[in-house]
Amino acid sequence: MTTLPSKSASTVPHFIAGRSISGSSGDAIPVTSPLDGSPIGNVHPAGKIEIEEAVKDAQKAFETWGCTPIKERVQPLFRFKQLAEENIAELSKMVSWENGKTEAEAEGGIRKGLEVVEYACSLPQLIPGQLLEVSSGVDCYERRFPLGVVAGITPFNFPAMVPLWMFPLAIACGNTFILKPSEQVPFTPVRLAELFHDAGLPDGVFNVIQGNRGTVEGLLDHPGIQAATFVGSTAVARQVYHRGIAAGKRVLALGGAKNHLVVIPDADVEITAKNVVNSAMGCAGQRCMAASVVILVGSCDHILQAMVTQAAKIRTGEDMGAMISVSARDRVISYIDRAQKRGAKLLLDGRGAKGRENGYYVGPTIIDGIQPGDECACDEIFGPVLSVLRVDTLDEALAIEQQSPYGNAASIYTSDGGTAVYFEERAHAGMIGVNIGVPVPREPFAFGGWNESKFGVGDITGRDAVGFWTKTKKITKKWSAGAGRNWMS
Ligand code: NAD
Repeated sequence: MTTLPSKSASTVPHFIAGRSISGSSGDAIPVTSPLDGSPIGNVHPAGKIEIEEAVKDAQKAFETWGCTPIKERVQPLFRFKQLAEENIAELSKMVSWENGKTEAEAEGGIRKGLEVVEYACSLPQLIPGQLLEVSSGVDCYERRFPLGVVAGITPFNFPAMVPLWMFPLAIACGNTFILKPSEQVPFTPVRLAELFHDAGLPDGVFNVIQGNRGTVEGLLDHPGIQAATFVGSTAVARQVYHRGIAAGKRVLALGGAKNHLVVIPDADVEITAKNVVNSAMGCAGQRCMAASVVILVGSCDHILQAMVTQAAKIRTGEDMGAMISVSARDRVISYIDRAQKRGAKLLLDGRGAKGRENGYYVGPTIIDGIQPGDECACDEIFGPVLSVLRVDTLDEALAIEQQSPYGNAASIYTSDGGTAVYFEERAHAGMIGVNIGVPVPREPFAFGGWNESKFGVGDITGRDAVGFWTKTKKITKKWSAGAGRNWMS
């Protein structure tokens, strides 16, 4: 059993065909806990041999799993959800320890991921096919079939939730799955695989291989893998999408984000301040749904002041976790340094924030006087940094939002329904919030952005995921000669 990472810095195993297998190929990649910088493990990236072994075992498992009726396939998912809930405290600690977020945030992410499991458990009720008598004595109907062995590649920021967007639905749809988690958070996915195995999932249906870029490329190029979903930064999402497509696979690749929150003077001061700060600073700003730009329309200084007061209460290391790595921390700090040099005003400065000793912390930061086109207004900083822009009209705010190459989320804070609808219809993002700064759709609604926040068609969860993980046969059937009333008879 994979246990909480300890200071003994063990090699994190792969999980192939129901067994933990110690990785030995390639140079070891050290894993440290962002909370205090302590070494917690090593990842040996899977090479050709391990990829081949995982694909072969998954192919073998597919022979049976792929033709198991869906009502039977979802039974281990029910038990997995229960087991994950029973072990949620341990899982949350593990996520927090390897990722650096607080245990409360870790638990929130796991519970959100488990909603996808719940949705996957409902698939037998949600996706029965359709049948129509299209001509006298002639029936047309549709059947869904799984694709075969499929893969998922996930980022560091949600060690449980993002894998949970992928494998429960793919597996419920009859595929067998190989997950390649981020080499920065390798422990939790193996623990999820162990729990799923304990829940009765047959060997080889869900496999985890550790690795980095080389492993991802090996999976994308492998002819035995039919489809891949990816979640990570835009630069890598683009590469993964094109490489996978070139290899003839179905690919959906979700990328990075720069989310805009627009505040209208009629917004509720307290709700807006709390919500904007929660969106920008939650998970230390390391989420693709984080607000990183707030656009104040007209005179909103009283709301901005309330945001600063709210953010100043956050205790780094207690209410807010750490950056994933030293280099991530230094990159975030360098954005603050440069903004200050260019004359922007630091309303709150998180540089030098203290958390646990040797941890990788940046505190809540709010920068006023950012101009459209500044790097703080355009780049995904991926840290607890909120950039403040000011405009006179909602249309000017929308123009800034619409020019972003990303398109994950956008929100408006207002007490006017007409203004909210105006924004909802014009913002260029796949997920829209009204008085909500992290507008993550809850199941059964699907998760997915637009533009450079996503490469491929459809969303990663919800009904679109069923389409992605299956292929259909359309059957036209006639058993009797029938009345011979038309051309089909
Ligand atoms: P990343 O792109 O660096 O890594 C993601 C995965 O790709 C990892 O498993 C990594 O091993 C692998 N990888 C890295 N470089 C690669 C390469 N050149 N070729 C092939 N594979 C490679 O992302 P990250 O830093 O782990 O995660 C943060 C990013 O993920 C942010 O940009 C964030 O916005 C994004 N994200 C997006 C969503 C979404 O739903 N759109 C959700 C979560 C995170």
